[in-house]
Amino acid sequence: MIFRCKNCGGNIVYSPEKRKMCCPHCDSLDSEERVDTPALVETYKVSCSSCGAPVDIKEHTSATRCPNCGNYFILDERVEGQFKPHLIIPFKIGKKDAQEFLKKEFLNRPFTPAGFMSMASLEKMEGNYVPFFMYDFHSDMTYQAVGTKVRSWTSGSYRYTETSYYDVYRDMEADFSRVPVDASIAMEDGIMDLLEPYDYKQLEEHQDKYLSGFLGEKYNIGERELTPRAEAKVKSDSSEMLNATVGGYATLTNVHETINAIKKGVDYALLPVWEYIYTYQGKEYKYHVNGQTGKVLGETPVAKGKVVAYGCTVFALVTIAGFLIRSLLFAL
Ligand SMILES: [Zn+2]
Ligand SMILES: [Zn+2]
Repeated sequence: MIFRCKNCGGNIVYSPEKRKMCCPHCDSLDSEERVDTPALVETYKVSCSSCGAPVDIKEHTSATRCPNCGNYFILDERVEGQFKPHLIIPFKIGKKDAQEFLKKEFLNRPFTPAGFMSMASLEKMEGNYVPFFMYDFHSDMTYQAVGTKVRSWTSGSYRYTETSYYDVYRDMEADFSRVPVDASIAMEDGIMDLLEPYDYKQLEEHQDKYLSGFLGEKYNIGERELTPRAEAKVKSDSSEMLNATVGGYATLTNVHETINAIKKGVDYALLPVWEYIYTYQGKEYKYHVNGQTGKVLGETPVAKGKVVAYGCTVFALVTIAGFLIRSLLFAL
């Protein structure tokens, strides 16, 4: 499919700055008309919905740009049926802003090659929608241990030490909503982890028009295959929550922790990432900008193996539905 302008017939794209569909040819806003032109998809080739020219695509491409006419189009069968996304965070950061964020981060570093941050190079930057699964989990947790508290005092010429023993018991429940796991083989997991956090409150119902003007990929790892990764995140966060409630003891022994994580649902979502590839002395350097927050990630061509920006990984919007703590304290 392609989005055409009702005024001038040009290709309409989604503008992150205006938060509207925008015609770059006649400047009209929200004048788009969706034209369904099922493109003929061969394995790695497709015909442009606009000019019919053959366009090279990758195995999982769902939205692309025709190098012949420059128009953006969407591959219908890769956003429909089982591949229809439920949710999307549309790009909030436009190309110009993404370029500025990169320049600000990298321009003044020493020993960077000329042309590295030139506008001619930066023009090649493209916005990508990365496929994700968002899991909902319910977690039941229990914790048992023997804790000690120690008190010392002096009386006359004697020094006393009193050790109190406690049975520590916790019983908690938590609901985790939208735990994200990326479903793209091409996008390295480490990069997505570092580009987080996204503000998942801004997820909205998917509409195909948001893809116009960007590149996209359908999920290429199944939801079931990725469930263990979401479950591992939930268990690790649950364990942290449990352990945060048992402070104040000198020692904790005979610890028994059980965490039962139950999958409640899953949504298929697309998240925005700007990507800029710079080739220097035969090596490709990749730069990413979070398309929602502007967070920048990449390494300068001279520094080896150094990832510039680290981010804490925020796994989930955690809502504690039921929170029940029972402590049975027996001072001996
Ligand atoms: Zn127009
Ligand atoms: Zn074309």
